Amino acid sequence: MEEQIAQLTGEAQAAIQAADSLEALDGVRVKYLGKKGELTGILRGMGKLSAEERPKVGKIVNEARAALEEQIAAKNEALKGAALANRLASEKIDVTLPGRRVPLGHLHPLTLTLNRIKEIFLDMGFSVEEGPEIEKDYYNFEALNLPKDHPARDMQDSFYITEDILMRTQTSPVQARTMQSHEPNSPIRMIAPGRVYRRDDYDASHSPMFTQVEGLVIDKGISLADLKGTLELFLQQIFNDKVQVRLRPSFFPFTEPSTEVDVSCVMCHGHGCSVCKGTGWLEILGAGMVHPHVLEMSGYDPNVVSGFAFGLGVERIAMLSYGVSDLRLFYDNDMRFLRQF
Ligand SMILES: [Zn+2]
Repeated sequence: MEEQIAQLTGEAQAAIQAADSLEALDGVRVKYLGKKGELTGILRGMGKLSAEERPKVGKIVNEARAALEEQIAAKNEALKGAALANRLASEKIDVTLPGRRVPLGHLHPLTLTLNRIKEIFLDMGFSVEEGPEIEKDYYNFEALNLPKDHPARDMQDSFYITEDILMRTQTSPVQARTMQSHEPNSPIRMIAPGRVYRRDDYDASHSPMFTQVEGLVIDKGISLADLKGTLELFLQQIFNDKVQVRLRPSFFPFTEPSTEVDVSCVMCHGHGCSVCKGTGWLEILGAGMVHPHVLEMSGYDPNVVSGFAFGLGVERIAMLSYGVSDLRLFYDNDMRFLRQF
């Protein structure tokens, strides 16, 4: 019996030493010391022993058991330490490795163009005014001399939300709002940039949403010469060129007289190319002297002050500045296109 215990103890000690993981060590514990373990089995079988042998054997088994438990505890600590050291080694951070670069974005070409337009007008003493994109019919049309049923409304077929509220078709309503927030007849020099909406097709030169900049100057003695001089200076700065400017008579309900403003072609410098369809000129914006009725509607007296207004498409300027032939490229979010700016 004592020999059997000694042999079991020896086997158990060897198994403890050989255990290379916490799981393996626990297996050894169960095998020898667990409820159905081999050493426990000897204790169970002690009923068969004589009364003198029983305490003797009991003592030996308990001593062996205590010794094994101690060894298992020690081995347990050793394995835990080794596991931690392993983890530290495998998760070590190499601070000398180069970092991962996060690609930086940049401004959209339309934003770049709009920023440039704003800069030029700010330099000329204009303020930048903003207004709502969902606008009252009154500000979008009526205050601009376009009463209900006016045929010119058809040119700006729009998205109505109710009978009297719509997605603005132009940024001109900001002009009426600005005039009405000023003392009557006080001078104004402003641009109103922003998105506008029209029931238009989506093709190489149209989009149901586009970006517009409208401008308004009101003061005593403002004439068509001021309009031409201001727009000439603006166009020469935006195209970085000595472009020529030409005015052609036109019609807008909110200006009188009205004019289309052309620049000499920025691609061929007036010699004629496919962009200007051989004419040497590009239609670039609409403008005119503010209609007396529009001044009156916003509380200004056309006998005291006069003014000019203009409106231009930011997409059109961007297409000409960057040589882009299809408007849709600005909205497709194709990185191959956007990365070029
Ligand atoms: Zn040309």
